[in-house]
Amino acid sequence: MLNPSAYALGANRSCIRDLFEYGCQRAAVVGRENVYDYSLGNPSIPSPKEVNEAVCRILADTDSLQVHGYTSAVGDYAARKAISDDLNARYGVNTVPEEFFLGCGAAPELVSVFRALAVPGGEVLAIAPYFPEYKPFAEEAGLKFQVVPPDVPSFQINFPALEERVTPNTQAVILNSPNNPSGVVYTRQTLEKLAALLEKKAGEYGHPIYIVSDEPYRELAYGVEVPFLPGIYRNTVICYSYSKSLSLPGERIGYVYVPRKAADGEELYAAVAGAARACGHVCAPSLWQKVIARCAQLRPDLESYDRNRKALYEGLTQMGYEMAKPDGAFYLFIKAPGGDANVFSQAAKKKDLLLVPGDGFGCPGYFRICYCVSYEMIQKSLPVFGELIREFENV
Ligand code: PLP
Repeated sequence: MLNPSAYALGANRSCIRDLFEYGCQRAAVVGRENVYDYSLGNPSIPSPKEVNEAVCRILADTDSLQVHGYTSAVGDYAARKAISDDLNARYGVNTVPEEFFLGCGAAPELVSVFRALAVPGGEVLAIAPYFPEYKPFAEEAGLKFQVVPPDVPSFQINFPALEERVTPNTQAVILNSPNNPSGVVYTRQTLEKLAALLEKKAGEYGHPIYIVSDEPYRELAYGVEVPFLPGIYRNTVICYSYSKSLSLPGERIGYVYVPRKAADGEELYAAVAGAARACGHVCAPSLWQKVIARCAQLRPDLESYDRNRKALYEGLTQMGYEMAKPDGAFYLFIKAPGGDANVFSQAAKKKDLLLVPGDGFGCPGYFRICYCVSYEMIQKSLPVFGELIREFENV
């Protein structure tokens, strides 16, 4: 006998993975340069050179037992202090190292936070479009997963729909800004409005409603502000990751920030640590904690992402494609010509152009482009987008 939901998750590959695998097969037949694969969000800029230098220095200068040994379950103090110091300097806040829990990337951190908040009957709200993994993370943790329909076409927050869905069982709202898949950054005004709504509802229900802020893309913003949410809403828990900001997705390193001044802050921190313990996710990779202790202040060089973003946004908009302004992350979320993103993506696939339909993101009728690819691929693929929109205009 097996756990049926675990089996279903393992047996059914995600649509993104399927497309990626298909792209690899096609590349073997027609050549890599003839497949326009916009499916997967694997960073395409190298880690800052200081990161690689830090790795070399740590390996050369530190006793190997110490480099590769277990750290404290919540993470090395030096790494937590470096993160805390960096946030304090950037945002003028007063975090302390004891508020940070070093994790193995945003995914397991979200799982731990959801498990920490999973009371009987508890619900969590995700704002469409959203990262598809939130659903299994929340449901396997024991929370009911509820979706707030999108705010079209800006992809900020649909407040009337959100307000309808907040109930006495609402434990948390998941936010992801800059957003995967829309590339939208929530404005300060949107976040202040959200904070006011949640404060009002929490007051009515007599218990806190947390914001779980999933922030792997915080550093990927192109000339717009990404506000530090705990400064706007006290009951914010951050799940941060270095997967995209330092191009380290394979190294599995990030942190959870639980402010002490949040409601039940110290207990919530303990519950997050306890949930991580129950999942076997304590003691994040030791070498990478040491790297973060030296590199927490580094930011990515966004020049090549920005060039890709502009080429696609301008090129596609001129052709007649419609999308919200992509101010962050490395995604565009585009309205499918003809209205059905699955039909459109199938037609694109026949031209070796791989686009992810928006259904899995809670937003049918749109498709996602992930532009951490080469500029040359973008240039070669633009005429194919042109052919497609013309075909669908004539339907
Ligand atoms: N959240 C979002 C919105 C993501 O896009 C991703 C990965 O692509 C994750 C979480 C998981 O990131 P990590 O590699 O840090 O586990």
